[in-house]
Amino acid sequence: PGTEHVLEIDAAVVALGNMSNPLMAKTTAGLNVNKRGNIIVEEETQRTSLDKVWAGGDIVLGAATVILAMGEGRKAAANINEYLAKK
Ligand SMILES: Cc1cc2nc3c(=O)[nH]c(=O)nc-3n(C[C@H](O)[C@H](O)[C@H](O)COP(=O)(O)OP(=O)(O)OC[C@H]3O[C@@H](n4cnc5c(N)ncnc54)[C@H](O)[C@@H]3O)c2cc1C
Repeated sequence: PGTEHVLEIDAAVVALGNMSNPLMAKTTAGLNVNKRGNIIVEEETQRTSLDKVWAGGDIVLGAATVILAMGEGRKAAANINEYLAKK
């Protein structure tokens, strides 16, 4: 509350993107991405090419759906749990 304010404008353009951020691959050595810049993971586990890094959702699939992102999140969480339990 109290943070709202009114801007006088002529038009509002909503800018939404579905692309991966190219900086991610450029600044993260050893992270394998495909030609579209999406992270490559092991399908069964969501593990990336980096140790102790899992990925899922749009950054892996490209523009997809909430259900698919949630599914990959669950798969990654299960594998992280398995990994930690073994340690
Ligand atoms: C306009 C639009 C409409 C859509 N409508 C539907 C729909 O009706 N039904 C449906 O199922 N799907 C829809 N989708 C797709 C759905 O939104 C995505 O598939 C889903 O949100 C992917 O979830 P995610 O967790 O993988 O990624 P995201 O929801 O994109 O979450 C990634 C998060 O990471 C954060 N982030 C990014 N970079 C950094 C950083 N460097 N540091 C910290 N945080 C960072 C972002 O701010 C974001 O919060 C729509 C997408 C768009 C763009």
